[in-house]
Amino acid sequence: MSETFDIGLGNHDVHLRKKADSDFISFWDDQARNLSWFSTWTATLDWKPPFAKWFVGGTINASYNALDIHQNSRADKTAILWEGENDESRTLTYADMFMQVQKFANVLKSLDVKKGDRVTIYLPMVPELPISMLACARIGAIHTVIFSGFSAASIRDRVNDSESRVIITADGGYRRGKIVNLKDVVDDAIDGIDLVDHVIVLERAKNKISMSAKDKFWNDLMDSASSSCDAERLESTHPLYILYTSGTTGKPKGVLHGTGGYLTHLYSTFKWAFDIQDTDVFFCTADIGWVTGHSYVVYAPLLHGATQVMYEGAPDFPDESRMWDILQKYNVTIFYTTPTALRMFMKFGDDVPNSFDLSSLRLLGTVGEPINPEVWKWYFKTIGKEKCPIIDTWWQTETGGMLISPLPGLETIPLKPGSGTRPIPGINLDVVDEHGDVVPINTKGHLVINNPWPGMLLTLWGDDEKYRNVYWSKYENRYYSGDFATQDDDGYIWLLGRADDVLKVAGHRIGTAELESCIVSHQSVAESAVCGISDNVKGEVIIAFVVLRHGLKIDSDALEKELVDKIRSDIGAIATPRQIYFVSKLPKTRSGKIMRRLLKAIGTNEVVGDLSTLEDGAAVTEVKKVFDEIQKSIKD
Ligand code: ATP
Ligand code: MG
Repeated sequence: MSETFDIGLGNHDVHLRKKADSDFISFWDDQARNLSWFSTWTATLDWKPPFAKWFVGGTINASYNALDIHQNSRADKTAILWEGENDESRTLTYADMFMQVQKFANVLKSLDVKKGDRVTIYLPMVPELPISMLACARIGAIHTVIFSGFSAASIRDRVNDSESRVIITADGGYRRGKIVNLKDVVDDAIDGIDLVDHVIVLERAKNKISMSAKDKFWNDLMDSASSSCDAERLESTHPLYILYTSGTTGKPKGVLHGTGGYLTHLYSTFKWAFDIQDTDVFFCTADIGWVTGHSYVVYAPLLHGATQVMYEGAPDFPDESRMWDILQKYNVTIFYTTPTALRMFMKFGDDVPNSFDLSSLRLLGTVGEPINPEVWKWYFKTIGKEKCPIIDTWWQTETGGMLISPLPGLETIPLKPGSGTRPIPGINLDVVDEHGDVVPINTKGHLVINNPWPGMLLTLWGDDEKYRNVYWSKYENRYYSGDFATQDDDGYIWLLGRADDVLKVAGHRIGTAELESCIVSHQSVAESAVCGISDNVKGEVIIAFVVLRHGLKIDSDALEKELVDKIRSDIGAIATPRQIYFVSKLPKTRSGKIMRRLLKAIGTNEVVGDLSTLEDGAAVTEVKKVFDEIQKSIKD
């Protein structure tokens, strides 16, 4: 029996779930009416597997729904409380955003950007990033945002793949007190590509850059742009953006999202999961370069006319207290972050958050990886003081928005640390075996989604075949998520990590997430990553990397033994690592995920591939050193 936490929060709307269960199409039809449409649809869903079209015939505009509709009631309300890395701050109201977006939409038009054209955006976390996205959306251009940590080679691939003629970037961006010259990276990326006609350069860091004939400064273009630009009436299925997935597991795929369905999904989930109120101050720590930033920094909060904090820099810069300082400064009420960030905060020790007033908080969210029960409880107790529910949201770049989550804005449900509880209304999913049959209670299987949903990707950009193969070929007419899960006897779903992240030891398959969660549940451990390295006898043997909680200095032999005993009793002897290595950090993407493909590549002496999304290169050096020692000891 897992522990449950019932703090009795939540509205109760049984009716909504009933309706969704009986007819998901008419249920979503109702939800879509919360948005402002120029003209209504003739068909709610056109489903020709694996292609779904939502609200066919309806016309809508994302930028209109994010800005225009608030100009009567909320023009002076703050949309963005921007916090720079070096203590600068800016406040933008809904009226400010409206004006800037219209002006920038006119700038794009003046550069001959038309409906359906792709625009690449490579900007740091500054308000001009959402402004650029909304300006694209306003005229029907398809934005493709590239996280500002990506390398020139990654940009080149993406610009070529999306055939973007216009790129928006900045001179530089701040990262841990240093200035990264973004313009230089773009120059390298497009060197020799004829495709790109214009590069718009925002002056953010005032670092030295070189400008060519293609390059124009943001401010110069904005100065002469008119501040009125009507939003285009776009088909509901018109593409809003391409977002290349983070590549934790390999080659990036251009996930293409539409407009009407996607916005309906975001509007609904933001209301249900975060119970958003006009007085809330929302803060999502995700970079807009990832899907969480697209969906729950840019679109969902603006659709609701919410006030939110947007932070430019690293969460532990200039010191370990930065996040809590921001929460206190802006009286944040809803905080949405990742398990990885939480494990890091936990590692710093409780004194850090305890020295801040976090009493404004009422809801705490998490996304991106399975959250270990230990970390969940820490978040609940130390940050939320046992009064804020933990909203563990499971979703993917491809799903557009949350699919599994507690929904305090809709219903009361007891929470179980480590489970995202149940699917949201309108989503019908199962945990199945290799044949597609539902597995028994508490048995591991593949998570599949049985019916289309509004936030679902339209396809992979320029590659319908790959879209079909990756998501729809394993099980007929059911979406294959690629994640392992179990379902318990209360119907709660437990995510167990990716199906391609399994260790195969002596014929057994062990999920990395399960093993890591077991290790992290030890009181001295902050973070862990496990991986398999090949072994002639067993196929693979497991090695584990462990980061201890801040300040802990422990006899590692004794601790190693304790951890091994724990693994044996919690999972079984088969999962015993050959060796446990204590390191000070793990290689992670800036979206907060441990790069297991990298650990594995180092372990097998393979080429490690694109490292540009890595948070900290030093972690790679440390892990590599450990592997070299292993190799050496095997040889000796
Ligand atoms: P790529 O698809 O390129 O390998 P990615 O899968 O890391 O990258 P995302 O779409 O951002 O890119 O992440 C989705 C994945 O993150 C899910 O498939 C799941 O494995 C994991 N995930 C997200 N939220 C949760 C959660 N609440 N609990 C467990 N796992 C989660
Ligand atoms: Mg994925």
